[in-house]
Amino acid sequence: PPVEEPDVRLERMLYPKPETLKPPRTDVLTITPWLAPIVWNGTFNSDILNAQFHKRGVRIGITTFAIKKYIRFLKDFLETGEKFFMVGHKVNYYIFTDRAQDIPNVTLSEGRNIHIINVTAYQRWQDVTMRRMQMIRDQTYTRFMNEVDYLVCVDVDMRFYGSVGVEILGDVFGTLHPGFFGASRAQFTYDRNPKSVACIPVDEGDFYYAGGYFGGIIEEVYKLTNYCHTAMMTDKAIGIEALWHDESYLNKYFLYYKPTKVLSPEYVWNNYYGSPRAVQIKRFIGIDKDYKEVRFR
Ligand code: UDP
Ligand code: MN
Repeated sequence: PPVEEPDVRLERMLYPKPETLKPPRTDVLTITPWLAPIVWNGTFNSDILNAQFHKRGVRIGITTFAIKKYIRFLKDFLETGEKFFMVGHKVNYYIFTDRAQDIPNVTLSEGRNIHIINVTAYQRWQDVTMRRMQMIRDQTYTRFMNEVDYLVCVDVDMRFYGSVGVEILGDVFGTLHPGFFGASRAQFTYDRNPKSVACIPVDEGDFYYAGGYFGGIIEEVYKLTNYCHTAMMTDKAIGIEALWHDESYLNKYFLYYKPTKVLSPEYVWNNYYGSPRAVQIKRFIGIDKDYKEVRFR
């Protein structure tokens, strides 16, 4: 063979057989029309997936931004990440911050590291969130490519409450926004301004994806972040900013570059949306925040 690949043959394992005529979930869509899995609790076996990913020695990077006052969310994010995020795998936390001196001291398990990436803080909160695309993009080939196989790009004002494992990984993935997984196209808060690159016509769109949770292999994260950043700059040049900032551009990207895996809202929940039956586990939950207080200064 041209390149040496690790032998990924699995060992003997005992587990219940998948039942072709008894799907584990019948209450939710578990596959998209382009045959990407939609990851819901009950649809996967973590033992099989962990065995596969361990054989490959997969390294996972998780990026988050803790700029200005959002540094306060980092301790809980990291501590709960150690309990629930990719347990047993090699993990690099990439913390983009303007306050490196305030990074909390959190003890990490073996094979897990924190990498601080110093960035400047934009004045407007909208720019802080949108510029994440550019900042992630700018690290892909200089840094991420050499250090990890997959990237998971998330908000920091979050806490892990349940397992988030290798079931989420794929070439390029997005996550169903907790507020819209049961909504119609007309209800999706896509950008509707035809002048904006982010515009999605009312008769198009598959899902409403959350801005605070996407990822994939490095090449795909480069394409996604580069597209979104370039689109934002095109709009900025004519004085336009899409309705929901980076989230609007991300939704436009996923309309025409379909994700190869879609995560259920279990992966980016907010208690604001209550406890619908379909959501059996809330794995990663937004922290309540005083928007005015935390976003300014
Ligand atoms: N963020 C930050 N500092 C700020 C504003 C935003 O670090 O002053 C980052 C942080 O990672 C945050 C993300 O941008 O989680 C998105 O912003 P926010 O969580 O406020 O958006 P929301 O989830 O409320 O839509
Ligand atoms: Mn957030």
